[in-house]
Amino acid sequence: MNIINSDIKLDFEDVLICPKRSTLNSRSEVDLEKEFKFKWHDKKWKGIPIMASNMDATGTFEMAKSFSKYNMLVAIHKHYSIEDWEKNHEFVRSERGANTICVTTGIQDLDFEKLLKIMQIYPNLKWICIDVANGYTSRFEEFVKKIRKIFPDKILIAGNVVTREMTEQLLLSGADIVKIGIGNGSVCTTRKMTGVGYPQLSAIMECADAAHGLNGHILCDGGCQFAGDIAKAFGAGADFIMLGGMFAGHDESAGEIKEKHFKTGEINDYGKEIIKTKKFKLFYGMSSETAMHKYKGGIEKYRASEGKTTLIPYKGLVENTILEILGGLRSACTYAGSKKLKDFPKCTTFIRVSKQHNDMWN
Ligand code: 5GP
Repeated sequence: MNIINSDIKLDFEDVLICPKRSTLNSRSEVDLEKEFKFKWHDKKWKGIPIMASNMDATGTFEMAKSFSKYNMLVAIHKHYSIEDWEKNHEFVRSERGANTICVTTGIQDLDFEKLLKIMQIYPNLKWICIDVANGYTSRFEEFVKKIRKIFPDKILIAGNVVTREMTEQLLLSGADIVKIGIGNGSVCTTRKMTGVGYPQLSAIMECADAAHGLNGHILCDGGCQFAGDIAKAFGAGADFIMLGGMFAGHDESAGEIKEKHFKTGEINDYGKEIIKTKKFKLFYGMSSETAMHKYKGGIEKYRASEGKTTLIPYKGLVENTILEILGGLRSACTYAGSKKLKDFPKCTTFIRVSKQHNDMWN
């Protein structure tokens, strides 16, 4: 028998945050840093709980060097070789590096071996992210248990899942933080290819509730398009937020800048047609054809690509984007009457809406 869950499930675009009277006088009074204690050990971490995704475009050492100035996190992608790690030796073994860098691993034997090597060379690193597209397999759960056993005092992120039961299961298997999000990424085609997914705002609310009951945490992964979505995710109970698309397209992203020339239709003083040049960077999903060709030499016959490849506008230094995001977040806290990011969920009331933005001028 088919089962339909008819409860309404919401995404970021279905809600807005209601403003409240507050005693805060300025955004500059808002504290976005938060200190975390974790479920499985007594290691602590203090910083702004926003993490760049472990994608080629965002999980780079260059990104981590910029993020470390703001006490934010970067999940370094798993395709760097040990030599690449060693080229960044000074940063990786520094206190700042260890506070920013999260090592990513998949669950294949080669991923596991590389993780062991990295952690052996850099025992100072505190964060490990076990990342698979589908966190519901028993093989994944077993891998989480194994990693917890080998690294009893590391901060362990595991995912992705979108439901309460599996959030609890992964926490009990050894995760400190469960990564939430299926089918919601900006270059993801999982929902089109498989019909599988869960609206992200509801997934966060439900999984955060499940995790917090077990002294665990969640990380909202994917789907944030604007600073306002990040505010909504924190308001809904996300402890950490991972961003791909919003941090892609910068100098610190992998890949070259590409230029495209556009005819403007205008004529200059010398009677020549004016051509404008725009700069772009390539951005692709880690399960896209582009990524599979780059890292696996092609797509295996039994699987299909579940990611897009696109050119996105070049955005310059990532610090500008970081400042814009943090500015938006401070302003959201001011509107909700919350002096600290820590108190923001308690201060957040969502309103369901049928319209988000005024698109008159786009
Ligand atoms: P964004 O912030 O761009 O909306 O989402 C980033 C997230 O999308 C990543 O952290 C990752 O979980 C997910 N993602 C990255 N590449 C792919 C892909 O090729 N396919 C799918 N299904 N998800 C992807």
